[in-house]
Amino acid sequence: MADFIWDLDAGGVATITWDTPGKSMNVMSMAGFAELDALIDRALADVAVKGVVITSGKKDFAGGMDLNVLAGMRAGGARAIFDGVMQMHTVLRKIELAGMDFRTKKGGKPIVAALPGTALGIGLELPLATHRIFAADNPKAKIGLPEIMVGIFPGGGGTTRVSRKLGAMMAAPILLEGRLSDPKGAKAAGLIDEVVPADDLIGTAKAWVLAAKDADLVKPWDDKSYKFPGGAPYHPAGFMTFVGASAMVNGKTQGVFPAAKALLSAVYEGSLVPFDQALKIEARQFTSVLMNPSSSAMIRSLFINKEALEKGANRPQVADQSVKRLGVLGAGMMGAGIAYVAANAGIEVVLIDATQEAADRGRAHSESLLDKGIKRGRVSPARKDEVLSRITATTDYAALRGVDLIVEAVFEDAKVKAGVTKRAEEAAGEEVIFATNTSTLPITGLAAASARPGNYIGIHFFSPVDKMMLVEIIRGRKTGDRAVAKALDFVRQIRKTPIVVNDARFFYANRCIIPYINEGIRMVAEGIAPALVENAAKLLGMPLGPLQLVDETSIELGVKIARATKAAMGADYPDEAVDRVIFWMADQGRLGRKTNAGFYDYSDKGERLGLWEGLAGKYPADKVQLSLADVQHRLMMAQVLEAVRALEEGVLTDIREGDVGAILGWGFAPWSGGPFGWLDIIGAARAVQICRELTAQFGHRFEAPALLREMAENGTGFYGQPGETRAA
Ligand code: NAD
Repeated sequence: MADFIWDLDAGGVATITWDTPGKSMNVMSMAGFAELDALIDRALADVAVKGVVITSGKKDFAGGMDLNVLAGMRAGGARAIFDGVMQMHTVLRKIELAGMDFRTKKGGKPIVAALPGTALGIGLELPLATHRIFAADNPKAKIGLPEIMVGIFPGGGGTTRVSRKLGAMMAAPILLEGRLSDPKGAKAAGLIDEVVPADDLIGTAKAWVLAAKDADLVKPWDDKSYKFPGGAPYHPAGFMTFVGASAMVNGKTQGVFPAAKALLSAVYEGSLVPFDQALKIEARQFTSVLMNPSSSAMIRSLFINKEALEKGANRPQVADQSVKRLGVLGAGMMGAGIAYVAANAGIEVVLIDATQEAADRGRAHSESLLDKGIKRGRVSPARKDEVLSRITATTDYAALRGVDLIVEAVFEDAKVKAGVTKRAEEAAGEEVIFATNTSTLPITGLAAASARPGNYIGIHFFSPVDKMMLVEIIRGRKTGDRAVAKALDFVRQIRKTPIVVNDARFFYANRCIIPYINEGIRMVAEGIAPALVENAAKLLGMPLGPLQLVDETSIELGVKIARATKAAMGADYPDEAVDRVIFWMADQGRLGRKTNAGFYDYSDKGERLGLWEGLAGKYPADKVQLSLADVQHRLMMAQVLEAVRALEEGVLTDIREGDVGAILGWGFAPWSGGPFGWLDIIGAARAVQICRELTAQFGHRFEAPALLREMAENGTGFYGQPGETRAA
């Protein structure tokens, strides 16, 4: 079945309709490109064809390149990627030059794009090669080049065309940040040409084709008088742009994301040479990024596997469990956030707290988020009213009658939780699924308070709820399949990404984050300079150093968790050295960001200043410091080994969840694709060697788990996909 359908109307305008069979969204494959190529040849050769409109048979134009194909392309090696990309450039260039005789500037055929909705990646790069882009006035449509978000960059001419069209400065947010806009925003940014009512889309596009003049078909960069907007690098203005952009990119990425640097190089080097040469440079940079194991690890975790989890890869086979009415117990920071995301997704919410004031305060949280949205032009006043009307704030448990899911987010206290569980279950009825948002208490223990432990589950949100995309679902020992399906369907409704793990101390995410924080603090206690610890983490691509992270999550909470963990573990407790530091910090009144004092200093307005100098009085930095690599290995292995142990112990049952969960849950070095992705990049043998060195120097906590040692012996990896290369 064909991806592209040909139609020629009586007026001589051909319509090429993109309609990938069997998919709700068009995605481009190499075979699709070959089909498009043949149809363009046909249009250019047939004298009856005056021009072409390229459009879509679906509600959107296209979601981009099929990333599965891209991941597979690596298997063919650099030459195959480069040749494949150049083949695409040839087709797109054929569209752009339109068969025109460039000596006389005559004889070309207009080719335009008509976008009914979303146009992303190659779905925008193809239109960018046409002579005019029309988009339907569809505010839901997203237009842009998000490739950078999955570790690659626009390599289908998008980098070269957008930078030449808009100049490096205006192109930066589109290319470097992957910013998406609705059609009106895309027009304002200069990416597309016209926004028209949906019903007039094809008519307007055809009328333009019939009226187009020869001059309309010459792209600015194919005109002799073309100058790079804002100046190419050798121009003083352009020079400043590129120096600034280079510094900004390195500041933001710390040099760990190969795609950002390659993108900048493609724009910079491309701007110095003629257009066709620039496309070749773009293809070469794209090839080098695709050959880097980081890009396939990112595509795998942030696109392919993230989507698979969102679509329910690990959902039990149970009938649809979509939530219609939700009960939320506790309207504090977490409960209020959960109520907001649910109401925003169209779910009716009963928000309960011990007093009406507290419940109202929880509802007011939604109001303030919606007001912010109105200020930024993202939310209409009518939408605000609609979302708020779904939240009933009350102290009356009777209001829970008819809710099909309850999420409990009261104080972190097993007795308080047991009390509200009983009351709420009685009020809601037998069918209700009951979820706790606890971050530290084992689910199986809490389920003892439930009349129906099979319907009891953990749904662990991260703070702030409206921003954090991961939700950790925890199966207690008795949790049944319907509860898991309910939790997964709820997470799908609120458009977040779920992982499902088994019950154990700190579940998965916190289990890995805590050793990371502790390793950082332990190094401070050993006399390692705090700035070295923090910068080493940043240079690994961690969004926050361990000291900043504990400031954000609160040192007071760290103290509480340390006390509870020690009580539970007794003589086996391994973190006395860490506790001495945080207990001392707490004694100094430095409880973290919320008190404007922690490992960092803060201004009165709460802005983070430098590291707190008082720390050096108690823990002076040694004259001899560890190497950067040693500090990084300690910080990385502290997290990664815990992830492997979670897998060995069956807390994690799927490495995809371990990787996606790590990146979305605590920002684990996204360039690596996650802890298991990172281990595959360096190889199990190298990982075991690092563990051996760290164990000899710093202790048994770095001993390689058996699973890793076996992999090193057998030469296997976690994913072992074809084309995966191993760096030493
Ligand atoms: P919070 O103190 O902000 O809110 C708790 C709310 O529960 C308060 O409004 C309180 O009035 C209410 N409450 C207490 N007892 C109640 C009762 N008997 N009936 C009704 N309401 C009652 O706490 P939080 O930070 O929102 O945390 C809530 C839960 O979420 C805890 O279990 C916590 O471990 C978990 N959690 C917190 C975070 C976080 O970052 N804060 C992250 C994940 C999970």
